[in-house]
Amino acid sequence: MQARIICFFLETGLLILFFWCFSARKMDSSFNKDMDIEIKKKISVHWFRHGQRIHDNPALVDAVKDCDEFYPIFIFDGKVAGTELCGYNRWRFLLENLKDLDESFSKFGGRLYCFHGQPMDIFQKLFKEWNVNYITAEEDPEPIWQDRDNSIKKLCEKSGVTCKFFTSHTLYSPQDIIAKNGGTPPLTLELFQLVITSLGPPLRPLPQPDLQDVNMPVPKNFKKFALPTLEFFGIEPEFEEQKKPLNVFVGGETRALNLLKARLEKEKASFEQDSCQPNHQEQPELMAKAVSLSPYLRFGCVSIRRTYWGICDMYTKVHNKEPPSEVVCQLYWREYFYIMSVGNLNYDKIENNPICLKINWQKNDEHLRKWELGQTGYPWIDAIMNQLRFEGWNHHVGRHAVSCFLTRGDLWISWEDGLKVFLKYQLDADWSVCAGNWMWVSSSAFEKALQCPTCYSPVMYGMRMDRNGEFVRTYVPVLKDMPLKYLFCPWKAPLEVQKAANCIIGKDYPEPICSHRDMSRVNMSKMYRVKEKLLKADIPHCAPTGEMEVWKFAWLPPIEHHDLAHNL
Ligand SMILES: Cc1cc2nc3c(=O)[nH]c(=O)nc-3n(C[C@H](O)[C@H](O)[C@H](O)COP(=O)(O)OP(=O)(O)OC[C@H]3O[C@@H](n4cnc5c(N)ncnc54)[C@H](O)[C@@H]3O)c2cc1C
Repeated sequence: MQARIICFFLETGLLILFFWCFSARKMDSSFNKDMDIEIKKKISVHWFRHGQRIHDNPALVDAVKDCDEFYPIFIFDGKVAGTELCGYNRWRFLLENLKDLDESFSKFGGRLYCFHGQPMDIFQKLFKEWNVNYITAEEDPEPIWQDRDNSIKKLCEKSGVTCKFFTSHTLYSPQDIIAKNGGTPPLTLELFQLVITSLGPPLRPLPQPDLQDVNMPVPKNFKKFALPTLEFFGIEPEFEEQKKPLNVFVGGETRALNLLKARLEKEKASFEQDSCQPNHQEQPELMAKAVSLSPYLRFGCVSIRRTYWGICDMYTKVHNKEPPSEVVCQLYWREYFYIMSVGNLNYDKIENNPICLKINWQKNDEHLRKWELGQTGYPWIDAIMNQLRFEGWNHHVGRHAVSCFLTRGDLWISWEDGLKVFLKYQLDADWSVCAGNWMWVSSSAFEKALQCPTCYSPVMYGMRMDRNGEFVRTYVPVLKDMPLKYLFCPWKAPLEVQKAANCIIGKDYPEPICSHRDMSRVNMSKMYRVKEKLLKADIPHCAPTGEMEVWKFAWLPPIEHHDLAHNL
């Protein structure tokens, strides 16, 4: 009996134990299942395109936040960062930017992963093979990138991957500006400034992200994702001079931040003298060492918000009051040209470009080639084009001079042809900013009823801007011994002077490609005919806010502007 009782208790105990274990396992497995959902890993990728920096990069900050694994990537798709059209200098600069990023990530145990191919294919692989489930990128404001980004957004949606784009290449979200302006981009700079005033100041830059604890795995076979060389892409210097330029813009965020620091010191010095924008005085620094921020702003190695607030805060520190908009007006130009291109895929063309006037430009490949190669026989123009090809950068007055010369000033060649040349050589060439400036200078857009059909003289403008001729002598060395009196018009030098200067015109240096006196008269009358048509047709298009804006754009005080425009 006792044995039976013991057996009964044992059986019941076993039964209870069995049910307890079963239900505990069940509970455990459903608990785990819940946990599976809860502890789904965040494997994130930040996709660099513009915005080639770590500081003030909201998309990067979002990607690394609470992530389990993080991979910074760059995709060479044949188009990114303007690589479809650009030449040696800009390729070199781009690879330097990426190298700097790679080195920055290396300090925290990571690397920059480089891929080759179409983003759609690459992301599909990343989702499958690396289990990537979170992508961030900086929003590209230009319409040419919209298709690429929309297809990635769709792919992510289909694949259940989180995909976030952040505005930080411009001070404001272009959509906010357009919405505030009633659905269309503001047509003048003044209107644009009014709109942004009503939006309030732009956001401040973010604090430096802490990458210390971010897990950035690097596999043993990383080599296949390493940054390629110029040789890999078959890119070589197009000109001997590119191998040993006088001024070298070295790419990268590190260099960009040092330049910004130096620039702010310069701003401070000029604020203390009750002036502003040291690089914007009436005597431009054509020969300044590579200090311009534009190539770095173009690739986003330096944040536009950090630049903007750096200047504004410096002003406030010096003057103890809010800065006037004047101190950052150059940055507004950049913003304005970006906004004007929103939704306009033909912004870089004449055909089907609603803001561009159709002017009857002529084709002349020989003249175009001579202009590109710095062989026009106008030393001021040739020096600028040589500087552009060899170093990838020109001061604004230089760009202004050569673009006017090619279009409405002398050669009457379309701004579209000039734009292609700039997109090839300029380090800072931006699809929208560059096209916008070309339309402006050639009077094709941003021109109010052609009130300013100015033809800047390639002789007088040069003499005014390069007063001691140092710039021309440097970039057209064959003229280095030409006396200043003839430096900007060497064909006027008597033969003895040419011989003494070791430069015979027509042999050592070309005769002028055209007579500026004749061509500018012909071109001005053509412009007047366009103006007449324009007034009759009342075509809506962009316009400068007023004449003062036009003078400022040419970096000339009104009186000199008048002289240079009309004294042929
Ligand atoms: C035909 C032509 C094409 C141009 N193409 C470009 C281009 O592709 N990319 C580019 O950044 N600039 C372009 N510019 C504008 C201008 O010449 C350069 O921005 C300027 O020379 C850069 O020098 P900086 O950095 O010392 O400028 P700063 O005078 O110090 O100005 C600070 C920043 O403001 C912006 N900025 C200044 N002027 C302009 C302007 N007119 N339009 C738009 N942004 C401006 C640039 O980002 C610049 O770095 C072009 C001008 C002309 C006439």
